[in-house]
Amino acid sequence: MSDLKLFNTLTREKETFLPLRPGEVRMYSCGPTVYSYPHIGNLRTFLWSDLLRRYLEYRGLRVTQVMNITDVEDKIIRDANKAGQDIGTYVVPFIEAFFDGLKKLRVRPADHYPRATEYIPQMIELVKQLETRGHTYTADGSTYFRVSTLPGYGKLSRVEIDTTSDYSRIESDEYEKESARDFVLWKAKKENEPSWDTPLGEGRPGWHLECSAMSMKLLGETFDIHTGAVDLIFPHHENEIAQSEGASGKPFVRYWVHGEHLNIDAQKMSKSLGNIYTLREIEEMKFDPLVLRYALLSVPHRTKLNFTNASLDDAKNAVARIESFLLRLEDTIASAPKDAAHADDAGDAMIGKFLTDFQESMDDDLNTAGALGALFTLIRDANTALDAGKLSAGDANGIKAALMKIDPVLDIFPRRDEVLDSEVEQMIEARNAARKSRDFKESDRLRDALIARGILLEDTPGGTRWRRR
Ligand code: AMP
Ligand code: ZN
Repeated sequence: MSDLKLFNTLTREKETFLPLRPGEVRMYSCGPTVYSYPHIGNLRTFLWSDLLRRYLEYRGLRVTQVMNITDVEDKIIRDANKAGQDIGTYVVPFIEAFFDGLKKLRVRPADHYPRATEYIPQMIELVKQLETRGHTYTADGSTYFRVSTLPGYGKLSRVEIDTTSDYSRIESDEYEKESARDFVLWKAKKENEPSWDTPLGEGRPGWHLECSAMSMKLLGETFDIHTGAVDLIFPHHENEIAQSEGASGKPFVRYWVHGEHLNIDAQKMSKSLGNIYTLREIEEMKFDPLVLRYALLSVPHRTKLNFTNASLDDAKNAVARIESFLLRLEDTIASAPKDAAHADDAGDAMIGKFLTDFQESMDDDLNTAGALGALFTLIRDANTALDAGKLSAGDANGIKAALMKIDPVLDIFPRRDEVLDSEVEQMIEARNAARKSRDFKESDRLRDALIARGILLEDTPGGTRWRRR
């Protein structure tokens, strides 16, 4: 087996991944800021973070994954105030939508989802440590990190740092300009802002502080992997390093893994640009979440993904091809006794090549495009062999076993017992259209097909209702 290589933003190189503790990986993924519904760009990032974890597990590693929920931050406070709600109430539907989106996209739950508001004591402790080590100063009731006190500042984003200069202070959590700034750790209380009464004074944490405190509390001072999209490299991750290494004096994260954005018309999908799609909108366009999962996974995380309707159509076709191949395999397996001998070596060769190509692609910085290429080569070759009568039931079983081996990684196979809401609704619409045109044979066929999949219909004056058996 080849080595797993990951591109590390810290070194700007693809490096062989070796966990600090043999057999065990600790990873932290920056999670959502819950001031609105996640868009599919956010979901892209959460999806490949989960893919990374799944592949580490495929390689036999035990993974602990932590994803924070930022539930106190500038934008949340701004929008909660606009809505006339306290932040705790305001964030509830967005947290729900976040978990709902992950579930629909088959993202496996992380081991911990710490919320910033529940880690205030750990944040205070971290600032106290930084204070002791001479990295902070206070002004107008806020506490800042003095960037020039940390020689390595800038090593992740490669911003220029001049240790002789006095930097201007920045209060805002996010800033665009790629230059060093003294950033805020603890913000003094302001009117109409939530605050905590602490040894640092009354106030609230800065965003960067939240992630340093939560990650180190749950994963230790040094851990293996930190993920996020490229917009977080500066200042967020640079500042996380400054806080964590400034406080502990130890290396914070060994591999920084960043993914590219999901773009729309060559622009980053973002709420502030107003060019977003949510998962719900994709579903309203009658695409199954599995199709979105496929479309997002088909582009490797470090490649920009330009989102179009055509990309969803392509993904839909790909998923359909996979599904019909799986059904064909089942038919082949069912058509012969289980212990039927191999017809020839065709199956073994195909399987061997498939697993090797899949692993080599994934080992190469999670090249999902290559991994899917290996899958479709297998499907094409197996279909050709089936057409020629050259694959036995034994071969089909072997191929199925190989597919089940990689299934926990990609998780893109339609689940046969899972009928999706969008699919049911499409079939009901088709049935209504058939009834309208008095094609009762077709409408009965659709009703029976739905019943066979456990869906019961009830025709009411208000339209057709359905429920699961
Ligand atoms: P936020 O909720 O804004 O804090 O973002 C959550 C995660 O989504 C972060 O890792 C962001 O870097 C990431 N993200 C934001 N916009 C995009 C995008 N257009 N494409 C991919 N990831 C994104
Ligand atoms: Zn973060």
